[in-house]
Amino acid sequence: MAALGVLMAQVFHRASGRSWRLRQRSLALWEQWIAQLQAQGHPVELRRGLLLLASSPEELQRQQLLVRERQAMGLPLELWPAERLTTLQPLLPPALGALWSPADAQLDPQPVLQALRVELERLGTQLHREAATALQAQGDGQWRVHLRDGSDLSSPVVVICAGAGTPTLLRSLGMAAPLEPVLGQALELGHAPRQPAWSWSPNWPAAAVWQGINLVPRPDGRLWLGATLEPGHQAGAAALETMASLNGQAPGWLQQSQRLRQWQGLRLRPQGRPAPWLEQLAPGLLLAAGHYRNGLLLAPATAEWISAQVETG
Ligand SMILES: Cc1cc2nc3c(=O)[nH]c(=O)nc-3n(C[C@H](O)[C@H](O)[C@H](O)COP(=O)(O)OP(=O)(O)OC[C@H]3O[C@@H](n4cnc5c(N)ncnc54)[C@H](O)[C@@H]3O)c2cc1C
Repeated sequence: MAALGVLMAQVFHRASGRSWRLRQRSLALWEQWIAQLQAQGHPVELRRGLLLLASSPEELQRQQLLVRERQAMGLPLELWPAERLTTLQPLLPPALGALWSPADAQLDPQPVLQALRVELERLGTQLHREAATALQAQGDGQWRVHLRDGSDLSSPVVVICAGAGTPTLLRSLGMAAPLEPVLGQALELGHAPRQPAWSWSPNWPAAAVWQGINLVPRPDGRLWLGATLEPGHQAGAAALETMASLNGQAPGWLQQSQRLRQWQGLRLRPQGRPAPWLEQLAPGLLLAAGHYRNGLLLAPATAEWISAQVETG
């Protein structure tokens, strides 16, 4: 999974509707899931706090409105004036102020997915590693899943949640697949050999967001930076460079940093409907796709939705 693990729930710009509810539910469930995984001995962690930097007067104004609205709802968002950010300089990109959300969070996707996989297997889930190539209604209430190795599986319930593979599976059923890919590139950065290690703590509070770019400090002193927003399947060098330079405003230490790792992934965005696309397409056939930029955040609420659909038939 390409995600940086940033969980933006309470800073979402609307405080009602399905997306808001899914985000809040997911944040609460992530807390429970992480605690349960930790209790089973998995080295997973929810790092609390998110700092949204305001890079323009308009953004600062939007943050002020948002904080007023969320505080009236009893949520713990606060505004940090520019003076408070001076203690974080020269680490941060230039900002006129910031919104601090102590309840939003970040988690590392890989160890969390690995831990979930281990727990699913411990609970008796059988994992098949072959890709599904097509789906078919059998007519007896069963769905047939054709696998790449030529074998197939049958089940009364199938959930299509195959990321970029989802459109192919929908089309194999003769269904439309209004989902468009938006590619994202990300970087892991380290300090340059002769540069002093930058230190995140105690001053750098948590993952920060600047002009839509996430800066995620790592426990090992590295930094994740991401992600680009590139419609289609092709990664562009220019888009990566623009992001890496923080649109030309990266502080010196960031410009001199070393690129240790680079990766990319596709996010599927539903066309003509809001993300995510959760729907029962036919009896026993569920779709959970099109989570676009928030699939990691929304995973627990999506799982809960699927489980409710399966239980109620
Ligand atoms: C660079 C980047 C950064 C991101 N950062 C964040 C973030 O900070 N926070 C956040 O919430 N979201 C983030 N996202 C978005 C998030 O990664 C997606 O929304 C999420 O991964 C969607 O989950 P998914 O399970 O639908 O699809 P995927 O994560 O793509 O998973 C689909 C799975 O299905 C499998 N598959 C595909 N085809 C088939 C097939 N035919 N048969 C069987 N299996 C198949 C794949 O191998 C994969 O395991 C980011 C995305 C990118 C690209």
